[in-house]
Parts: sequence; structure tokens; C-alpha cells
Amino acid sequence: MFFFLIIQTTIIKERDKWHVVFSCEIEKEKPKVKIDPKKTVGIDLGLKYFANLAIGRDNHFVTIENPKYLRKALKKLSNLHCYLKNLRLDFFHKLALTIVKSHDIIGVEKMNIKAMMQGLKTLSRAISDAAWGMFLNCLKNKAFEYGKNLYEVSSFLASTQLCSKCGQKKEMKLGQSKYSCECGQNIDRDHNAAINIKNLAVGMTV
Ligand SMILES: [Zn+2]
Repeated sequence: MFFFLIIQTTIIKERDKWHVVFSCEIEKEKPKVKIDPKKTVGIDLGLKYFANLAIGRDNHFVTIENPKYLRKALKKLSNLHCYLKNLRLDFFHKLALTIVKSHDIIGVEKMNIKAMMQGLKTLSRAISDAAWGMFLNCLKNKAFEYGKNLYEVSSFLASTQLCSKCGQKKEMKLGQSKYSCECGQNIDRDHNAAINIKNLAVGMTV
């Protein structure tokens, strides 16, 4: 019998599953048993086998493999990872090539790695960040290869709050999908941001 005290309760969403995590402080007493000094084991956790055991005075050697079902599932997962990586790389290369071939001045938003690392993030957000980094690298290499000019503009300057038509600044809430300005500009929020990035890149060429 033991008692525990819940210190913290956290609700986490991972993929489409919800988990409730309880952090507890457990008061538990170790049972008193007679220790036999002959019953010894040394455990080495390894890559080839899950564990290697050296047992007793004569160091009897025992290897413990990962169970077959686990090995099968791991192999499936690793194949899927490889497949996904190739799919994504293929998409990145084709898109980067299309963009680079048909444009000479290319503006992109500078990735703020530090800001990305900060704070709590969902798994999908972390994966997107990694994918954007991979795509930008791909785009940079292709632009260089084809002699095109690629400019990274700071996301501070290419703010989503800036009107791409008249340059006025206004507050944009996260959920706001349209940018509407007094000057008559009324476009999609991301479209407005892309125009700002392009204008800054063009400005960097002169
Ligand atoms: Zn405006």
C-alpha cells in the first residue's frame, strides 16, 4: 500500500489523441527482504541486442533481443520515414527548381531559428519548421546554381501588419485572414505578407 500526492495535471494532445499526465509524489517504502550475495547480474544495454546480461559468479552470459513484433514494427516505421523523407525532398526539389527557373529575384522570409526553438510547440509545428528549413536550403542552393538572386528579409520588416499597397501599419489578430486597409487594399493576409517580402527583396537589389 502506498500513498501519492498529485502535484500537477497536464493535458496533452499528440496527433489526434488526448493524454492526461499526472505528476505525483509517491511515498512508498522499500520492502525488507534478505539479500543473497550470490544472485548478481550486470546489465549492458546495447544496439545489436536489447540487453546483455552477465549473471552470477561465473558470469553466465545471456543476450536479450528485442521481441520480434517490436523489430517488425520498427522496420516498418523506418521504411515509412525513409519514404516520407524522399517524398518531401522530391517535392522540395521540383518546387524550388520551378521557382528558380522562372524568377530572377527571389525574396524569402528569414527563418528565425531561435524564436522557433523557444516556447512550447506541438509536434506538427516542429515538423513544419524543420520542413521549411529544408525547403529554404534547397531553394538557396538552386538559386545559386542557376545564378539567381535570393534575398532573405527579416520577418520584422516584412511584417504581416504592414499594408503592401500604402505602407500603413495596423494590428493584425492571429485569426484574421484578410488584410483590409483604408487605402482600399483588401486581400488575403498571407498574400499581403508575400507581397511585402517580394517588395523588400526588390529593394535589396538596388
Ligand atoms: Zn493600405
